Amino acid sequence: MNTQFLIAAAGLGERLGREEPKALVPLLGRPMLLHTLDRFREAGLDHGVVLVPPGREETFSAALAGRDVRLTNGGATRQESVRNGLNALEDGTEVVAIHDAARPFVSVAAIRASIAAAAEHGAATVAIPSVDTILEGDEAAFLRATPDRRRLWACQTPQTFRVEVIREAHHRATREGFQGTDDASLVRRMGGRVKLVMGSRHNMKITLPEDLRIAELMMREGLT
Ligand code: C5P
Repeated sequence: MNTQFLIAAAGLGERLGREEPKALVPLLGRPMLLHTLDRFREAGLDHGVVLVPPGREETFSAALAGRDVRLTNGGATRQESVRNGLNALEDGTEVVAIHDAARPFVSVAAIRASIAAAAEHGAATVAIPSVDTILEGDEAAFLRATPDRRRLWACQTPQTFRVEVIREAHHRATREGFQGTDDASLVRRMGGRVKLVMGSRHNMKITLPEDLRIAELMMREGLT
């Protein structure tokens, strides 16, 4: 099937406390986004859309010189960014793998498994069983409930979909004013089935300054 990637790289990464947008922050001297795109290339995906912060197109196109990607402006939220990206997909795209630029250590196996599961079931997300007990709190920070950990998974990306499924899910979320923090939940809330595909702890999301140091340490130790 015609499969393209859609990389969410339009976040400014304010929690990282850097000048440049998060996706261009270097890991051992090379922008995070290039490490991420390398993983997709290794998985056989060379084409797709990269969402960039509006006003930063030139910096991104210089960093991505020679790559066959469509740069598209992101929005104020991740969901808005992805929606813009879905509108920018090449005609004829059947399956789209949506991935955070901030997860540069995604394995080729996870990318392939996510694509295979989406082709079969319509929607899939990479995730890992929760190692933590997760607490649901109330507004005053008192414990409300402790969901059974055996059923809890921590969400990762790529989240992969048949294009018509994820377009419809975004369309409905927009119409109903729903804001989610990922794309699979938009499919689920319209009753769709989403297959959970096993990820790994190495597929971490770089968010805080200490994550950068951990990421570089992992690279040096060959743990990525
Ligand atoms: O902020 P957070 O780390 O959760 O963002 C996850 C991914 O979504 C990042 O790769 C970021 O660049 C992207 N993002 C985006 N557009 C936004 C906000 C975040 O593409 N408006």
